[in-house]
Amino acid sequence: MRLRRLETYGFKSFADRMTFDFEDGITAIIGPNGCGKSNVVDAIKWVIGEQSAKALRGSEMTDVIFNGCASRRGMPFAEVTLVLDQLPAGMSIDTPDVAITRRLTRDSLSSYFINGKACRLKDIKDLLMGTGMGTSAYAVIEQGRTSFILESSTKDRRLILEEAAGISRYRARRSICSASPRCWPKSADAPARCASRPPTRSASVI
Ligand code: ATP
Ligand code: MG
Repeated sequence: MRLRRLETYGFKSFADRMTFDFEDGITAIIGPNGCGKSNVVDAIKWVIGEQSAKALRGSEMTDVIFNGCASRRGMPFAEVTLVLDQLPAGMSIDTPDVAITRRLTRDSLSSYFINGKACRLKDIKDLLMGTGMGTSAYAVIEQGRTSFILESSTKDRRLILEEAAGISRYRARRSICSASPRCWPKSADAPARCASRPPTRSASVI
């Protein structure tokens, strides 16, 4: 899977519509202090579902909306679209690439889209789970994150390794399945259907 394009509109310091194309090979973004390099990383984290304003270096989520400056007014909303291509087999989408969009208005109305179709945040999380691209995964390693990974507890590090191994999707589905009454044991003696073995076909549809 490759990060192909990022489009921002009214996001942080990017008041105008901006398109960042990530060609094959390495792309580096360089510039003076305060020019917006970290805002590009924030845009990527935000569009894939980051829910913590603090993790985006703000105090509330609407801080991501362009606030205005001496020469122009603030924007009424922020919108970011991320285009991924070379999608891995097994990703539940039937197009060769996927565009994920998030929009937020000043009155805190949030919307999400996959390939232009309105969806839930959960749909985006489900789509990216197991690809390494989730908000708590390893595809975005910003300042300070390397030391966090090295210094984290074995439990937290295990979560990162499980995402890399692609089994976090299976784990998430199993825990949803175990919480469903359909999977509870029929009697006190009977084993829970899903706790002791991988989900069956019908269970994984839940
Ligand atoms: P450094 O090299 O110091 O790490 P940087 O290139 O990473 O800097 P950023 O931190 O991405 O820079 O950008 C900071 C700039 O973004 C500041 O000038 C700040 O005023 C501006 N900024 C952040 N949020 C908003 C917003 N909502 N509206 C307008 N400008 C914003
Ligand atoms: Mg920075």
